[in-house]
This record gives sequence, structure tokens and C-alpha cells, in this order.
Amino acid sequence: MAEGTPDVAALKRAVCSAVDQMAPRLIALSHRIHENPEFQYEEHKASAWLCEFLDEEGLGSELGTCGMPTAFAGGRDGKAPGPTVAFIAEYDALRGLGHACGHNILGTSNVGAAAALARVMPQLAGRMRIFGTPAEEGGGGKIPFVREGMFRDVDAAISMHPGGGARPNSLGGRCLASQKVTLKYHGRPAHAASNPHDGINALDACIQTFNGINALRQHLRQEVRIHGIIRHGGTAANVTPDFAQAEFAVRAPTTAECREVYQKVLRCAEGGAAAAGARLEVVEGPFYEETNPNTALGGAAMANMEALGLPVVAPSGGVASHSTDLGNVSRVVPTVSVNINIAGRGIQPHQHEFAVAAASPDGDRAVVSAAQVMAMTAIDVLTDPALRERAAEEFRASMAAEQAVAAG
Ligand SMILES: [Zn+2]
Ligand SMILES: [Zn+2]
Repeated sequence: MAEGTPDVAALKRAVCSAVDQMAPRLIALSHRIHENPEFQYEEHKASAWLCEFLDEEGLGSELGTCGMPTAFAGGRDGKAPGPTVAFIAEYDALRGLGHACGHNILGTSNVGAAAALARVMPQLAGRMRIFGTPAEEGGGGKIPFVREGMFRDVDAAISMHPGGGARPNSLGGRCLASQKVTLKYHGRPAHAASNPHDGINALDACIQTFNGINALRQHLRQEVRIHGIIRHGGTAANVTPDFAQAEFAVRAPTTAECREVYQKVLRCAEGGAAAAGARLEVVEGPFYEETNPNTALGGAAMANMEALGLPVVAPSGGVASHSTDLGNVSRVVPTVSVNINIAGRGIQPHQHEFAVAAASPDGDRAVVSAAQVMAMTAIDVLTDPALRERAAEEFRASMAAEQAVAAG
């Protein structure tokens, strides 16, 4: 081995055995987060515990990144300047369902990958960063990271997600762009029997919005998803509801199409409000962009999964029917997400059974193997200039092609 040339195989063996050593602590941490589910932007325990783990490994980490109290950032520099890799942890839970998206695994495996890679960083040129990003389930905690330029010097963003439905291990695919919105309808109360003619029924405005959207569906492409709930629908049957509130997510394969469908949804809301004579208030939520999975990084991650003996299949290339704010990251930096299966047929994220799987032996194995795959892939990025160039070129070409389409 020429002097100064890193022995990649030895480095990969070193990070894998570091993860194996840490495994009992990582799994205990995964379970601790699982037992204490916290919702978007309330992940005070999870973020503090993950930072504590990083601190125990000698990695300075700080809470409060980008103005979010439950976001954090840390890292370690190598022996010389060079490329930068960033691991991306999530750790929020779902209201009423606990860790039914398995973000306890996502958080601990990324922190494990960072801690393992930190041990060999003195032998490598470049930098490793670990970003703790809150509120993936609707709050868009990665959006401020993107906006504030946290990925500006990053060559590759690496993360994972546990998968279900007996699907083989693979890579995160192309997810839908998504716009969340809260619609508030303001009416006028009245006695629903004595003087209903004096009332303005905010619930009717809300229901007409749903009816309008349901009519709209027949003219939308199959991949589009619009789904909503009524958060408030009145207080008593004998009082004309003077306030109603609905919450929707509008999703489509591209940002452009998502924005277009969203405008149509807003027209349905305006129509519903106009019909009932109510006043509409629109509170726009975060916009999740469609993911741009990097196949060059994906190839490296798949090879590392195979090297660990994990059964793995290439992603289908089709559009997945969910959304993630990792999409926003994937459109500013080459990004790869490793998908490790933890649950059998019929069990998918956002189901109670998936929450059970997230602390099962399969869930625990995913913490360890994902940490190893991510750390190994980071070593590839840090040591292989050709891989970095392929990833960067693919990223540039994909974004340029999209801009060309958008420009018509
Ligand atoms: Zn989820
Ligand atoms: Zn998730």
C-alpha cells in the first residue's frame, strides 16, 4: 500500500467492528427513544440522548441548530482537508401511534454510523458531519438546514429508513412532493333550531371543500394523492358551527405538479367557503420536495449491503407513494437512503404493528446493519474521488434536466 493511500477494506472492517462494539448501547438507546415517543419539535429527550451518545464518543455536538431546539449538529474532521459526508438522523414519533415510522432506528443508526466513522477519521482526509433533524412527520425540520446552507460543503448526504411489507432491503426511492395545508373556516353561530337563518355554517363550508376535492379527483393523474381530516367540526349539534378546521396533504410526483394541484385544492376550499358564506383562512404548512435519489451513491451502498451479507434488491425506479423532507436535501446535495426491512407482509410504516417491529429483534438488527452500511458508504465517498465525481455529475445532470422540463 502506497504511503498516504487509505486501506479501504481495513477502514471498513474497523467501522463495522466499532458498530458491533457499540451495538448494545445503540440498541438500548433505540429502545429508550421507542419507549418515549415525542412528536414534531417536541423531541427533547430523544435529541438530548442522541447528543449524549455522541458526546460519550468524543464528538462535540450541539443542540439548537438552525434555531430549532431539538435539532443538533456534530462531527469530526479528518487528518487533512477533503470531502465532507453528512449523516442525517430523524427521531420524531407519530401522534397516537408512537414510533410507527421507526425513527428510533433512524436516529440511533445514524448516530452509530457517525460515532464509528469518527474513530477512523484521523486516518482520513475530509470531514464527517452528523445532523439531527426533527419533525420529519410533517414539520419539515430539514428545510431550515437546507435554507441555512448546512449542506453547502457536503459531498454526500447519507441516511436510512426501516422498511416493511416483507420487501427486501433496498434503497429509498423516488418519493412524492407534498404540500401540507390547514384550512380554517370562520362562520357565525346561531341556535340551530330557533334562528338557523342567522347562522353561517363553517362545517358546511368544510364539507363542501371535501366534496369539491372528491369531484376534482377524477381529473387528476393516478400518482396524485390528496388526503385530509376534519380537526374541528363544531361544538354541539344544536349550535350552528361558527368554526371548522380541516387539514390536508397534497402530493404529486413533481414539485411543479404538486403546486398546480394545490392551487386547485385551494379553489375547492374557496368555493366551499363561498357557498356557505364563511371566511376562509389558509395556513400553509411545509413543502416537501420530491426525492432525487443518487444512483452512484446508491450503487456504493448496495455493494456494502451485499458485502455484509444482507439480501438486497435494486430499487424499482417507480415513484413511491409517500413523501419525506429528505427530498429537499436530495435536491441540494447527492443523497442516498438505505432501506432495511424490519417487518413482514401487510405491516407497513404508520401502522401499530410497525411500531412493534421498530423495537423487535429485526428492528435491533437494522440499527446495527444500517449503521455499518452507512459508515462503509461514507468511507467510499471520502476515499474514492471517481465516485464523488460520478455522484456530483449525476446530481447536476438530473437537476438540469428538471429545470429544462420546468422551463418548457
Ligand atoms: Zn412516517
Ligand atoms: Zn419515516
